[in-house]
Formats: sequence, C-alpha cells, structure tokens
Amino acid sequence: MTRQALLFIWGQWCEASDRGVREIRSPHDGSLIASVPEATLTDALAAIESARFSFDAGLFTSWSYSERAKLVGRIADLLERDAEMIAISESHDTGKRIVEARFDLTDVIAVFRYYAELGANLNGRNVDVGRNEIKSEIVYEPVGVASLIGPWNYPLLQASWKVAPALVAGCSFILKPSELTPSSAIHLIRILDEAGVPKGVANLILGSGAVVGFPLTSDPRVDMVSFTGGLATGKTIMGAAAQTVKKIALELGGKNPNIIFADADLAAAIDNAVTAGFLHSGQVCSAGTRLLVEREIHDQVVSAIVERARAIRLGGPNDQEAQTGPLISQAHRAKVETYIASAIAEGAKLRAGGGRPSEENLRDGWYLEPTVLDECKTEMNCVQDESFGPVITVETFDTEAEAIQLGNDTIYGLSGAVWTSDHDRAQRVARALRHGTIWINDYGPYRPEAEWGGFKASGTGRELGPSGLFEYLEAKHIWTNLNPAKSGWFPETSVGEKP
Ligand code: NAD
Repeated sequence: MTRQALLFIWGQWCEASDRGVREIRSPHDGSLIASVPEATLTDALAAIESARFSFDAGLFTSWSYSERAKLVGRIADLLERDAEMIAISESHDTGKRIVEARFDLTDVIAVFRYYAELGANLNGRNVDVGRNEIKSEIVYEPVGVASLIGPWNYPLLQASWKVAPALVAGCSFILKPSELTPSSAIHLIRILDEAGVPKGVANLILGSGAVVGFPLTSDPRVDMVSFTGGLATGKTIMGAAAQTVKKIALELGGKNPNIIFADADLAAAIDNAVTAGFLHSGQVCSAGTRLLVEREIHDQVVSAIVERARAIRLGGPNDQEAQTGPLISQAHRAKVETYIASAIAEGAKLRAGGGRPSEENLRDGWYLEPTVLDECKTEMNCVQDESFGPVITVETFDTEAEAIQLGNDTIYGLSGAVWTSDHDRAQRVARALRHGTIWINDYGPYRPEAEWGGFKASGTGRELGPSGLFEYLEAKHIWTNLNPAKSGWFPETSVGEKP
C-alpha cells in the first residue's frame, strides 16, 4: 500500500514528518484497509501553529455569522453528495453494517444543516440598564483555537457535533479522530477545503492519543478542548488542559439504566431493550446495558431478551443478513471478555452469549456473542463499569423509589429510560434520574436541536442544540457611555489641600 499525504496542515496535505504510517485493519476480518500517516509531535505542533495563525490573523473571524453559516450549509450539501462513499469507508473502519453507517451519515448532514440555520440567526443581545446614555451589549465571539478529539464508535457523527458549531462560531481547529477510524475525517476535511474554509482554519492530525493527544490538550496556543471518549482519557485531558485553564467540553462514558415497570407495554419494552443493549454490539455511549426490571416481570422479560439475544445474527459490513457487527479491535474484545469473566466470578448468571461465535466466516474478526448477565447486584463491578460491548446486566427492583435509587447509583449520568403506562410515574422517574437524556417508553432517539451530554462522570458541557454552539463562543459585554461623565468616586483635591 502506498504512503499517502493525509495530514492537513495550513491548507496542505502532507505525510507525517518522520514518514511514519499506521495500518488500518478491518474489525470484520483483520484485512488491511488503508495505510495512513501517523502524526508526530512535530506535526501536532505545526497543526496548532497553523490554527493559531489563522485565528490571530482573522482569516475566518472576519466573516459574519451568516457567511459562516452559509459555508456550513454548503458543507452539508457536499456531504450529501459524498454520503454513500463516506458511509462505505466508515463501515469498513468500524466494522458496522453499511445500513447503520448510512443512518449515521443522514444524522451527520442533519447536524451541519441545523448549525447552518442556527448560525444564520445568531445575534447578540442588549441589556437595558435603565439609562438612556448607556448602551450595554452582549456579543458572542469565537473561543479561539480548539482541539477536537473523537472516538471510534461513531467517528464522523461525533466529529460533526464539534466541527459544525466550531465553524459557525469562527474557531480554528485541529481535528483528531480515533487512530482506529480515520477515513471519514479525511473525507470531511477534503469537503471543508472544497467548500472554501480558509487556510489554517481546519487542520487534521491522525495519530495516537499518547503522542499527539498531549500537545493538543496542553499547548498554551490551544484555547479549548472538546473531547469525546472514555472516562480515563477524559480525566487525563482535564488535567492537561487545567495547566493553561482551557475551556473544556467532555463527552465521556455511560452506564445507562433502562428501567422496566410491570405496567409497561412489554412487547415494546423488550424489543427496545434488545436494541438498546446490542445495537452496534453495545459500542454506544448511551447503550442501555443496565437493565432494571420490576421483580414480578423479571422472568418473562429476561427469558424473552435471552431468546432474542441468541437469535441475533453477526456479520460484516457487506453481509446483508447481519444484524450487528464485530467489536472494534482485538484488544477491545479481550477487555470485554475479561469484563464478562469477572462478572461471572462476582456471581452474575450467564444467560446468553459470553463467547465468540463459532461460524467459520467470523473467525478472523473481533466478534463476540450478545451476552445477558442475570442476577446482578448494584455493587458488582459489572453493573458499575462500562463494558462498551454487547453485554446487558440485569437487576431487579420492587418499588419506584428503589428503581430511582438504583438508576442513580452510578458514577455516570449520560442517559436512561423508563418504561411504564403510568404517565405521572414516568414523569416522576424521569425528573428524579440524574442523567443528561431520559427516554420515556422509547430508547435511543436524539435530535440535533436537543442538547446531549452527561451529568457527573459522563462529562461536562453539552453538544448539540444551542448549548452545543455556545461551547465554542465566549460572551463579551461591551458597555458604551454615549455621554461620558466624571465618575466622582474619589475627591479631586490632592493631599494637604483643603477640600
Ligand atoms: P478513548 O478515550 O480511548 O479515545 C478517544 C480519543 O482520545 C481517541 O482519539 C484517542 O486517540 C484520544 N486519546 C487517547 N489518549 C489521549 C490523551 N492522553 N490525550 C488526548 N487524546 C487522547 O475512547 P474510545 O475507546 O475511542 O471511545 C470509547 C469511549 O467513548 C467510551 O467510553 C464511550 O462511552 C465514549 N463515548 C462517549 C460519547 C458521548 O456522547 N458521551 C459518544 C461516543 C463515545
């Protein structure tokens, strides 16, 4: 495979400074998909300098909000044009089915369209201070240079939540996708260049968190870090960014309670519980992998989920019959397998899955069977830790108060769901759960218009919605006195002089 210039710094495609490369391998069968540059510290510093220079030179900040919003709309059009090509490459990188990658692309385009519209209508505001000679205005200005660091599970979608508002705001940025899934970010940067994003505003660094992550999160020339990924990395980034008091937005993990009461529409609740736990093989930050079931329906619900889990067909991106795909890497599968083994050692009952599939055609990929662990207790590690794999843990509860208490008994606070036909109870539980998104009698939908983010260890800040744009803006107060006057605070007489 030939070496390619796929880093983007100061409007130029380039190789890594030491000409190093990383092989990207298919999670489906381990085959070589691509060979991409592996950026060095030197490359990361050059990308930061490029972003800093473009920002300080006003190459993008001189545009109006509506001009930048129009550009973001043009990017949405180009994404629409290339959607199929990008979906194919993303399905190869992640191992997810092409149909899922197509859904993701539809969502990506919707995010760019939403921020284009929001940016076109962005205005400051005036504060009435009750004095005719005073004009008091709040204006919104870009934060500056932003490092945008993303995960591998929804590579372009997570990037879109950052790139679209950053562009509307007028920030310059360095995008660093996960080293495992770089393809769609490369496509996106090509599109940004084609759409006319000024030189130096959008920079692309491909490489490991250990080498390029540190400068992107600690360099004093970076004003903000927006990160989506695991809790441990989030803590490291928070520490690195603290040294120069950067603005940070962190979207971290979750261990999301999916609460089913006995009066719920059980057919819908069971079906959605299977989707919530096993979509994308559980590699979803909001996956409903912590099932809380009212005791009287436990056996009925768990038996149905076990049956459904066993019937899920695994397969690669091009397998038309497949229902979900492999895990992202060998290392990640090993981690989930260790998690399952520890759960069983802790006393969880294995009701479905737990092993690798036996089919010949799946042997070279990182597949793991959909797994159900019953009889779990809140204090077990398997209930408290995010597996980020196809594993549902089951706990039982007897009362509404207990369901709420269990649902909140986690360091995380990303999302959760409640299933009941009692409207008042649904509202009470939804309000009491300390998670950033709560679904009532549903699981999983999100909208570009609606804020997404976590309470507690699931992160800080919000993506999507107006808040997702304000992360990239600083509010500035400009006070104008149209009739300047002396302040009169200190007497004008000097020392020794009689007043
Ligand atoms: P990860 O933390 O391992 O890596 C995420 C990114 O951080 C990668 O680009 C990686 O290279 C980079 N990185 C690693 N170390 C770094 C460092 N020291 N400094 C700077 N960057 C560094 O996470 P992952 O395995 O790619 O993603 C899975 C995690 O992401 C899960 O915990 C999942 O819950 C979370 N996630 C959260 C959301 C959300 O919206 N809250 C969405 C998707 C994924």
